[in-house]
Amino acid sequence: MPDVSDSRHHVLEALLHTAADVDALEPDSVLEDGWIKEAVSRSGMKFRWARLSESRERENRDIQRRPPADPARLVPRPPVVTIMGHVDHGKTTLLDSLRKSQVAASEAGGITQHIGAFLVQLPSGERITFLDTPGHAAFSSMRARGANATDIVVLVVAADDGVMAQSVESIRHARTAGVPIIVAVNKCDKPAAAPERVKQELLAHDVVCEQFGGDVQAVHVSALKGENLLALAEATVALAELLELKADPSGPVEATVIESRTDKGKGPVTTAIVQQGTLRKGCVLVAGKTWAKVRFLFDEHGRAVKEAGPGAAVQVVGWKELPSAGEQILEAETEHRAREAVEWRSFQEEQEKLQEEQRAVEAKQQQHQEAYRREREPLAHLSWRQRKAALYRANRQKAAVRPSERQESRQLALPLIIKGDVDGSVETILNILDSYDAHEQCQLELVHFGIGDVSENDVSLAETFSGEASVLAMFEVTAGKKKVPVAGCRVQKGQLDRRLKFRLTRGRETVWEGSLSALRHHKDDVQAVKVGMECGLSVDAAVDFRVGDVIVCYEELEAPQATAWDPGF
Ligand code: GDP
Repeated sequence: MPDVSDSRHHVLEALLHTAADVDALEPDSVLEDGWIKEAVSRSGMKFRWARLSESRERENRDIQRRPPADPARLVPRPPVVTIMGHVDHGKTTLLDSLRKSQVAASEAGGITQHIGAFLVQLPSGERITFLDTPGHAAFSSMRARGANATDIVVLVVAADDGVMAQSVESIRHARTAGVPIIVAVNKCDKPAAAPERVKQELLAHDVVCEQFGGDVQAVHVSALKGENLLALAEATVALAELLELKADPSGPVEATVIESRTDKGKGPVTTAIVQQGTLRKGCVLVAGKTWAKVRFLFDEHGRAVKEAGPGAAVQVVGWKELPSAGEQILEAETEHRAREAVEWRSFQEEQEKLQEEQRAVEAKQQQHQEAYRREREPLAHLSWRQRKAALYRANRQKAAVRPSERQESRQLALPLIIKGDVDGSVETILNILDSYDAHEQCQLELVHFGIGDVSENDVSLAETFSGEASVLAMFEVTAGKKKVPVAGCRVQKGQLDRRLKFRLTRGRETVWEGSLSALRHHKDDVQAVKVGMECGLSVDAAVDFRVGDVIVCYEELEAPQATAWDPGF
């Protein structure tokens, strides 16, 4: 295994040969596909896109909502009411008065606890559940969680103040939630009260009260003095009847968390409004990513209750962790199922988080590509020649960092020098080469282009190597009457084959090119000498060998090679 830092360096070096701006790369930079391909190819390796191993499909073990209840089992349930309205119009006072009306009637002795909701029972026996967190934030946050615990909105408008900004906002909230409104025209005890004006003002907001031929009930009350509250409660019950609020008290429980907090003595407690089924001690419940085995149920008077049916608000004790307000409560058959459901939900959340991260990565990638495009834009005004020359210069600088890299590549590569008589023809050829797309079969490396004849310098740019030996010693042998110079060599790479062409180089200079006249290993004439072996060789011309010269053997082959590239002609 290569050292990690080595491989990192190698990757960085390979990237120098791509269009990537290596200096600008950061640990979390996203590389373009093209750069990765090129870096892998230039490292002499083949690339293959691998699929990210996908996590195995996990079976959905969530708890599902119950199917719609059998109509035969439906029974009327109390409406759940939210009080809304402009600040200081009397919401809190109204709730207090309504609660007090119950305290007096109950045997509990006047102690009520805030649990987020309370029940109002009319002398006729009808019941209404009031959510006692007035204000829009609570209503909207519940709605944002998809919980629509409210059946009716009581809109409190002060008769001495009229319709104000938050009154209008309340109307809008109720409308979006599809919840009908009852207007409580409050503070009617005040001398300045003008309840008729309030109802008129409401017309402008499409709240048409009964006296104007609409279906909205308006009740004149005094929350402070507790006047006409029964009429308000009766109007609410009448509307509830119209709405035919019914539920199935049997079957699995469905409820909504309306409030949750950690109690010093009881631990995590929630107030739940039951929608379907009947909540009892011992029920196993799931809400969000937590679950409960119900230990106790309490009402708003702090009394332990045995059960709570649809429309009732009840405090639930027994949660493992605290669920959030607005979360849906579903009953599980067993504790095991509850745990499974919670695990599944956590898993789902993790997956969503991962997907979100993936989307962030993709967005970053796009940004990067955009930046790359912008970086290239300054070259746009240049002529094709200047542009190509600029890119070529930039690439050559990068290539200079690791000159041996190209030779090490096992990938087939064709270095090209394009020379033409006039600009136009060179450009045409370059444009055609631009369309080259068979890089996997053979890389095209545009080493140089320009106008004029191919020069010696051009060729040395394009040098390629195969096999190779260095001259260790020179001596002369006498063959007949002639003295023939012989180079004693050791083969460093590949093999020397006497049938092939040879080139003798000294530094960057080519001293001679041609064929061998003799190749010997010890005393024997041989066809080929392999790597590591020593040999003596003489050539077909008078050459003055020197120690350090390099002899390269190469083959001139003519083989038609087809690539997938279709240049279009
Ligand atoms: P909220 O901001 O809507 O909850 O309004 P509050 O219930 O806090 O009431 C604001 C003020 O109006 C308080 O000083 C109450 O005493 C007063 N108030 C509420 N209802 C009535 C009412 O029916 N008559 C009169 N005269 N004052 C009221």
